[in-house]
Amino acid sequence: MCLKRIDIQGFKSFGDRIKLELHPGLSVIVGPNGSGKSNIADAISWCLGEQRASSLRGARMEDVIFAGSDKRKAVGLAEVTLTLDNSAKLFSLPYEEIAVTRRLYRSGESEYLINKVPCRLKDIQALFMDTGLGRGAYSIIGQGKVDEILSSRPEERRHIIEEAAGIVKFRHRKEEALRKLSSAEQDLNRVSDIIHELG
Ligand code: ATP
Repeated sequence: MCLKRIDIQGFKSFGDRIKLELHPGLSVIVGPNGSGKSNIADAISWCLGEQRASSLRGARMEDVIFAGSDKRKAVGLAEVTLTLDNSAKLFSLPYEEIAVTRRLYRSGESEYLINKVPCRLKDIQALFMDTGLGRGAYSIIGQGKVDEILSSRPEERRHIIEEAAGIVKFRHRKEEALRKLSSAEQDLNRVSDIIHELG
């Protein structure tokens, strides 16, 4: 899997639209302090569905919307699109390229899209599950993250290993099946109570 392009507009320090083309191999982003390097990594995790403002170095989610600068007024919408190569069919969608978009309006309204078609956050999370890009995965190693992994609780470390092994989606399916089983058991109990009363 290869991240081919990142389109950012109105996200953090990027008031204007920027497009970053990434090619196979190593890409390095260099720039002076405060120029927005970490904001690019934040844009990637945000687009992948990050829900915790603190993980994006903000207090509220609205803080990701460009708040204005000396040269430019604040904007009302943050938008990030990640375009991923799917020629190896790592994602279970029949497209050569997968473009995932997240938008957030100042009103608090948010939108997610896969290849320009609106979808739910759940669909984005399901798409990335077990690819190494899933929530809490190891694809973005921020400052201090290595220490954090080494000192994390065994259950947290297990989640990282499970994502790498590609078994997270099976665990989710098992949990869903157990929930359905328990609700079917409750229904059965109700039915047998009614039968008992009638008999
Ligand atoms: P360093 O090398 O010091 O880690 P960096 O290049 O990683 O710096 P970032 O942390 O990505 O820099 O960017 C910080 C800049 O982003 C700050 O100047 C901050 O004012 C700006 N910024 C963050 N959020 C917003 C926002 N919502 N609107 C406008 N600017 C923002």
